Amino acid sequence: MADIVNNINKILQEIPKNVKLVAVSKTKPAEDIKTAYDAGYKIFGENKVQELVDKYETLPKDIEWHMIGHLQTNKVKYIAPFVSLIHAIDSEKLLKEINKHAIKNNRKINCLLQIKIAKEETKFGLSVNDAKNILENKNSYENIIFSGLMGMATNTNNQEQILSEFKYLFDTFNLFKTNYFTNYQHFSEISMGMSGDYKLAISQGSTIIRVGSLIFGERIYNNK
Ligand SMILES: *Cc1c(COP(=O)(O)O)cnc(C)c1O
Repeated sequence: MADIVNNINKILQEIPKNVKLVAVSKTKPAEDIKTAYDAGYKIFGENKVQELVDKYETLPKDIEWHMIGHLQTNKVKYIAPFVSLIHAIDSEKLLKEINKHAIKNNRKINCLLQIKIAKEETKFGLSVNDAKNILENKNSYENIIFSGLMGMATNTNNQEQILSEFKYLFDTFNLFKTNYFTNYQHFSEISMGMSGDYKLAISQGSTIIRVGSLIFGERIYNNK
């Protein structure tokens, strides 16, 4: 069994104070999260709505829950009342739906636009142009807080390629910050870096890393 608390503390010691660690608990039981919580850790990431809601309902209410995976528009309503940050906005339609449910719940919801940085075909995400189109109309989303950008590098051992993808996300962030958010303090986060590449991501300006297997151990998928 993974020594969850020790693993979290090791990562926290290594990373700069301004970088936030999201402990990715997907597929892992609520008890694993409780172990980390009891040691003082409160930021967790999930990628499936049903699992996120189940864990939210059973675990302490001061946990900061991050939705890190692809989100279907018809499931926004289940997480809108409590989610802290949605990492993977990959369409205008999704953002509209989140805005609608944020209004219904009388809250503002923090969102990151997911930019497609990987070479792989299968990954979700917006092109820089798609993102620009959304940002041109950003004032129409009254209850969305545009917190920044998120990206997932190609799943490869080629460090040069991962590095260039992270650089691309960082440059895109700076471009958007200059063009759309000069007087807006919220656009400040770059979510990039996972178990295998978080050090590289931090060297390229990441402010949020999403780490799962290095904390909770390898994941076992029963349904696939
Ligand atoms: C699963 C997942 C992670 C964590 O992956 P690890 O390699 O286990 O650290 C990070 N981000 C997203 C979007 C994920 O789905």
